[in-house]
Amino acid sequence: MDLIVAKFGGTSVGDGSRIRKAAQSVVNEYMKGNQLVVVVSAVNNATDELIELSNEAIGGGLTDKQKAEIMAMGELTSSRLFAAAIESLGVKAEFIDPYNDKWPVITDSNSLNAKIDFATTDKKCEGIKNLISQGIIPVICGFLGKGPSGEITTIGRGGSDVTAFLLGHCLSANNVVIVTDVDGVMSTDPNKIEEAELLDEISVEEMRDLATHGAQVLHPHALKYKDPLISAKIINFNNGDLSSEGTKITGPFEGDMLKTVSLYKNPISVIAIVGEEMLKKVGLLADLTSCLAENEINIFGISAGQNSITVFVEKKDSDKAYHLLHSWVIDEDVLSSLSLGDDTAMITVVSPEFIDEPGIISNITNPLRKNDINIVEISSSQTAVVLFVDWKDGEKALELIKEVLK
Ligand code: ASP
Ligand code: MG
Repeated sequence: MDLIVAKFGGTSVGDGSRIRKAAQSVVNEYMKGNQLVVVVSAVNNATDELIELSNEAIGGGLTDKQKAEIMAMGELTSSRLFAAAIESLGVKAEFIDPYNDKWPVITDSNSLNAKIDFATTDKKCEGIKNLISQGIIPVICGFLGKGPSGEITTIGRGGSDVTAFLLGHCLSANNVVIVTDVDGVMSTDPNKIEEAELLDEISVEEMRDLATHGAQVLHPHALKYKDPLISAKIINFNNGDLSSEGTKITGPFEGDMLKTVSLYKNPISVIAIVGEEMLKKVGLLADLTSCLAENEINIFGISAGQNSITVFVEKKDSDKAYHLLHSWVIDEDVLSSLSLGDDTAMITVVSPEFIDEPGIISNITNPLRKNDINIVEISSSQTAVVLFVDWKDGEKALELIKEVLK
């Protein structure tokens, strides 16, 4: 017997027949002997429409609190519809909204971007567990929260995905199923590249790095709550079947997946290659990387500017790399010289917040500046920032950055 949290996005409950089909898919799993919890979004674009309506009627005079209460009507409605649809199929269901004593998602008082109080939510989930053990299917409003004075809050647009993973975690569910209007996660945007393929599987880490790719299948913050023991997947509502395959989300595999900072165990050497005309030549990077690859030298980082390319290799490989690249620079017209720098320490910082939180780089670099630690190089890609500092400063920098991320 599995406990399944099934989250239905707006399109999957976009009209009467879709709601019936969705409810049927839940009932089918229930009949197989599984336990179910439904998390539901507002029907179609209901949230947008409610915002538009209130902007037209009230405009700038609308307070955030009022806006949250009005937006909430989307999920208040869909949860009632969904619970009634399940009941019409002969299975007991109860809609759970923030006005209900059993409501589990507790937040701070920020009306539109409320922060989840995980510990309290975790405790409040007891009430939901109770319902489940009585054979009742709880149908919980996605996106909504309850603030300190019992007021309705919302956890940010698209937040129902977060609700689903949060509840999956607190209820120790076996599965979280995200029911949406695509077949799963694609290798890229199929509207841009026709050959885009559906992925059978993607890791939490990869999914997080994909989050900025435009077509968002899943709220980037939802995976914060993904427990490694929970199997999760994204499926298309058209299947009408919660057992259909879609894309599986695996992991996370180790450590605190929210934020990590680590210092690479060995010193890293920096080789800087200079040449004025560099930008005019095609294939320089390819020549550089194949020269190192042919000699089994791994590259830890690479950055290219107007007149220089910097490559990072392990110190043990640095002499060899230096000599190989020197011969290449001599032969190459557009390059003039290269230098081998002092040993550096490589610090990698990973946080899903890098995607959408302004100022994060300066938060990391300010304490380094205050402690006179020079940053030799910094690069970032999606959720990771990599810093190179002098080898002797490595440990200290690591501690300072840990402080920032706390
Ligand atoms: N209904 C909310 C929105 O449109 C939340 C969600 O659908 O996830 O943003
Ligand atoms: Mg969504």
